[in-house]
Amino acid sequence: MTNYLNSVDSQRLRQLKDDLRTDMRLGYPMALDIDYSEVNDLFRHHINNIGDPYIDPIFDCHAKDMEREVISFYADLFRAPVDDRWGYVTSGGTEGDLFGLYLGRTLYPDAIAYHTTASHYGVMKAVDILNMPSELVATAPSGEMDYDDLRQAVGRHPNKAAVVLANIGSTMTEAKDNVVRIKEILQEHGVSHYIHSDAALAGVPLSLMRPHHPFDIADGADSISISGHKFIGSPVPCGIVITRSSVRERLGKSISYIGTQDTTITGSRAGHAVVMMWYAMKRWGREGFKKRAKQSFELAEYAEAQLRAAGWDAWRNPQSMTVVIKDPPASLRKKWQLASQDGWSHIVCVPGMTRRHIDAFLADLKTVQEPQETVQLMVNTEVIAA
Ligand SMILES: *Cc1c(COP(=O)(O)O)cnc(C)c1O
Repeated sequence: MTNYLNSVDSQRLRQLKDDLRTDMRLGYPMALDIDYSEVNDLFRHHINNIGDPYIDPIFDCHAKDMEREVISFYADLFRAPVDDRWGYVTSGGTEGDLFGLYLGRTLYPDAIAYHTTASHYGVMKAVDILNMPSELVATAPSGEMDYDDLRQAVGRHPNKAAVVLANIGSTMTEAKDNVVRIKEILQEHGVSHYIHSDAALAGVPLSLMRPHHPFDIADGADSISISGHKFIGSPVPCGIVITRSSVRERLGKSISYIGTQDTTITGSRAGHAVVMMWYAMKRWGREGFKKRAKQSFELAEYAEAQLRAAGWDAWRNPQSMTVVIKDPPASLRKKWQLASQDGWSHIVCVPGMTRRHIDAFLADLKTVQEPQETVQLMVNTEVIAA
């Protein structure tokens, strides 16, 4: 190995590696059981899956054959018809959402975009980029779409097509909107429609669990996107989007310079991410993913029960690895990297996380709970004294 760095810079690199080793990271949905050492040496090569995955470019440094295998695996999981499926490896869930909304708007140029207050912040940005008029739909306390509110919102635009983004595992509470119910409402109003399922974290686990939550192509979604670095555990951010090829045909033109079709949002695309998605699929397969999903749900059940037993407010949506908890003090949120919104945080029990992580967090929580009780007593004394 050649060393190009001086000792100061080498030290910085070592420091980064050390910092990355921490596992006091409970609040963000990135799987911990990652090991891609078998593909490490690919970083000596360019891999660029430029343009459409189904048309090989002129240059040969790509992994489009692997990408097509990956798309076929996820198209099976999300029940896209065998003779009518298409997709690609994106830069992440955000690009997948932008792609889904873009495809919907291409089919229905004057459509209204509908999504809920629980949607990921990137969804609002995508709507803004596409310059679509939109309606923000309310949610139930669980984070799931308030269907009556959707019905009213669609009723305000009886002559306009609808492009609906369904949250399939919302960012804060992992709430799932129901694609069948959404479709019924759109059909009641007789509006043309397109539904995109934003299943960044929950898409793979949900596709393998029974009872089946309605969210996939067979349930009526027109496209689905997931993140590759969340449940699947790619160390490089990426994602996958799946749709029908008959829908996708509305996009893209042939570009002679690269010898392929311009159907993807970005032109050059990370071939290394494609290889990692292929590697994860080969390593885990359907059964491996199912086992990891079950372990995550079981760990979440354990965490919820332990938190409640410790007197800490905690709850969880069905078929979910996210435990929503009342905000711990800021010092603990910082230490354990917990996101917080409106007084609530969450612990995401990703694959690779164990009871050891939960127990260590609980031990920390106990040390902060006791001083709080002291404060409570002092307040009471004051009240009594007054
Ligand atoms: C994480 C997330 C996204 C964005 O995905 P990235 O891969 O970070 O771009 C979109 N929607 C939901 C529900 C998410 O949880």
